[in-house]
Amino acid sequence: MAEKIDTITVDGLGLANTLRDEMKAEIEALVAAGHRPPQLTVVLVGDDPASKSYIKGKQRACARIGADSAEYLLPESTTEKELLELLAKLNADDAVDGILVQLPLPKHISPEAVAEAIDPAKDADALHPLNFGRLLLGNADLISCTPLGVMAVLERHGVEIAGKDAVVIGRSNIVGKPVSILLQQQNATVTMCHSRTQDLPGVCRRADILVAAAGNPRMVKGDWIKPGAAVMDVGVTEVDGKLVGDVDFEAAQGVAGIITPSRRGIGPMTITMLLRNTLEAYKSRKGLGRA
Ligand code: NAD
Repeated sequence: MAEKIDTITVDGLGLANTLRDEMKAEIEALVAAGHRPPQLTVVLVGDDPASKSYIKGKQRACARIGADSAEYLLPESTTEKELLELLAKLNADDAVDGILVQLPLPKHISPEAVAEAIDPAKDADALHPLNFGRLLLGNADLISCTPLGVMAVLERHGVEIAGKDAVVIGRSNIVGKPVSILLQQQNATVTMCHSRTQDLPGVCRRADILVAAAGNPRMVKGDWIKPGAAVMDVGVTEVDGKLVGDVDFEAAQGVAGIITPSRRGIGPMTITMLLRNTLEAYKSRKGLGRA
């Protein structure tokens, strides 16, 4: 019989708090040296309650590390032209270091046009084509927050990446693609899976590192997981009022080596990486070196 594994559940909130403490100390030192704190501006179009609550979380996180934040809550009727005009104003405002436009946007506004309208140097979510291109070339300063969060969990847990087989389920621009690139840059052999992948369970079983970012609740079963694998569950879907991940968490116990839970897993790390990007943007705009 296969040896039973003591699966480690990642404390994403604890890890996020450690990283936030590090950033707080860094900002305190910058302020003590006479600099102003970094500032993140968040823009929301429409009144989606989930988006409003995400924005509140981001503001609390800024306050926690001593960064400033501002918000623009625009009505659903805002035109693309009006939004782009606001972004041009924020780009030109020296007091703004990071800009984030909360997704999803209303249907009449193109997310691509919005991503391209943000100054790449203030692009806190790293969705501008220039930052995406730099990521591909391996020299990006600003990288999409969730993929950075996944990589930080792997790093802080000492998960070996070089030479390992990594499988990523999902190929979105915000999660699947960038995390695949980052894993490949750290010398993993990466397989990207999507809704047309044949024999997904068989492909997942080869993974030493499995990143699930499909948005399909509990799709990854216990017998899809290679014993001892690092399982990064990015997916979050509301099912019967509860947030559920892409991995069957209970079934992964005793099989996965480490696993992120759907609550307090990758989520707090994503917000932390938004803070990291804001601090990075601030320091590089002020010529204060890299975060
Ligand atoms: P998306 O819908 O843009 O992309 C989903 C991807 O998964 C697509 O490439 C699709 O081909 C693939 N996919 C869907 N169903 C599949 C299936 N049955 N088999 C194989 N592949 C399948 O989604 P996204 O923006 O990348 O987000 C993915 C999930 O991650 C969502 O649940 C989202 O809520 C969550 N998410 C969480 C965080 C966080 O901070 N925890 C951040 C971003 C996204």
